[in-house]
Amino acid sequence: MARTTMLPEKFLHEVWAQQLFRTSYLESNEGHRVTVIDPGKPNSDTGPDFLDARVQIGDTLYAGDVEIHRTLEEWTAHLHQQDPRYNKVILHVVMHANEESSETTAESGRKIPTLILEKFLIEPVRSVWRKSIHGEREKRLNRIPCYGKNKSVDYPIKINWINTLGSRRMELKMRIMRNRLHELASPDNFDLREPAARYGEFPFRGNIDEVPPPVRPPSTDDLRRKDAWEQLLYESIAEALGYSKNQFPFRRLSALVTFPRLREIPESAREALLFHMAGFLDADLEDSYQMQLRETVRNQKIKIKQTPMNATEWQFFRLRPQNFPTLRISALASIAGKMAERPVLEWLLSTVKNPGSSPREKLKNIREYFSVPAKGYWMNHYTFGKKTARGFSLLVGKSRIDEITINVFIPFLFLYARTYRDIGLRSNTESLYTKIPAPSKNAVTRKIDDELIIDNKHTSNAQIYQGKIQLYKFYCREGRCDECEIGKVVFV
Ligand code: SF4
Repeated sequence: MARTTMLPEKFLHEVWAQQLFRTSYLESNEGHRVTVIDPGKPNSDTGPDFLDARVQIGDTLYAGDVEIHRTLEEWTAHLHQQDPRYNKVILHVVMHANEESSETTAESGRKIPTLILEKFLIEPVRSVWRKSIHGEREKRLNRIPCYGKNKSVDYPIKINWINTLGSRRMELKMRIMRNRLHELASPDNFDLREPAARYGEFPFRGNIDEVPPPVRPPSTDDLRRKDAWEQLLYESIAEALGYSKNQFPFRRLSALVTFPRLREIPESAREALLFHMAGFLDADLEDSYQMQLRETVRNQKIKIKQTPMNATEWQFFRLRPQNFPTLRISALASIAGKMAERPVLEWLLSTVKNPGSSPREKLKNIREYFSVPAKGYWMNHYTFGKKTARGFSLLVGKSRIDEITINVFIPFLFLYARTYRDIGLRSNTESLYTKIPAPSKNAVTRKIDDELIIDNKHTSNAQIYQGKIQLYKFYCREGRCDECEIGKVVFV
């Protein structure tokens, strides 16, 4: 067998992802039968290697994360036993374990079952290695199923279908927002008035008997509560500032520190309160600005009833410094300040409904309102105590605001138009969606352009861009070619 310590972790991940071992009978190191229902999704960020796995151990089906190592000792060598991000690990998978190796324990104190792979390999490691490399290459070369066959499909069929999917994607975004609006506007929701520890917070340390009953659905009048709409907008912007990696922590933070709460405290305390609740002012502090923020929270005598988040919930790994959550939290404080000073709801509605300006001019106005220049400490720091050589001029610039327009403002305005039966707002929002330019290409839209042979010269707008993402994620990747208008031509 190849020396275990020489095995690259990437190889072990592929062995787990492709399940390159005897899966018919697996047994944990603790002597329980193990059945892998779903190996989970590879995690490219910090934290466990695979997320949302499902594994039956003994008679119990577990859902959670999987961590993979060469040896059992690496768990403690990497200090995972002190890290709450590993509290959801349900299985520790290792290639090799010594007789005297110790057990695996989470930060919460829970014992984690271990699977030792070398006992279940069918072939020598060298050939498993070869197979894993082959499998990985296949994955990389994976083309969409109609690649090479869709040239014959008329261009209008492709573009009309993508356009339809762009509308469906917007409908989906709007429904997600509507669900949150229903929670915020519910008569049982006290979040906006009386902050208190909520069920579902991570980590949940409350008494299970104190979990509140489900909230009552809101009435038509409840759904018109202005504070609920403002909070919805503020939360959605916060989430968008988190990109994909910090979306969830930003959602938590904006629910912990609500917009009404930020509006009622002095401007100088907003950033301090957000950083405090985000968990960045908790530890022994050495940075003078961090200490100043902590002093601000104390001096302002801001009442805090909830438990702050843990700083480890924020992702910095594989992020460019200008996208670090610290810069985005400061930006959120500035945006909340603007929203408080110049009533955001009225401003957004009148801007989008203005008959005298084109969609591009409206987008320009939105960019001006929401752009956030870097100020003070954040002009030359990307996180606490870490200086940047080049400095920043903007914390939120044009391209991020364009993304926020497409992913937040447009579904928000569609929802508002539907709730208030405002036909004028609806048609203005539609023209914004179909006339503002598409953002720069990402991996998915580039793949669709290349493999579906889409020429963007005449048809590049926000709706088409969203349609390509919808097509790939909901049809191509799922193999639903028989339900796709292009597939109906290609695979007749
Ligand atoms: S879903 Fe449609 S576009 Fe995607 S691969 Fe299948 S036929 Fe092609």
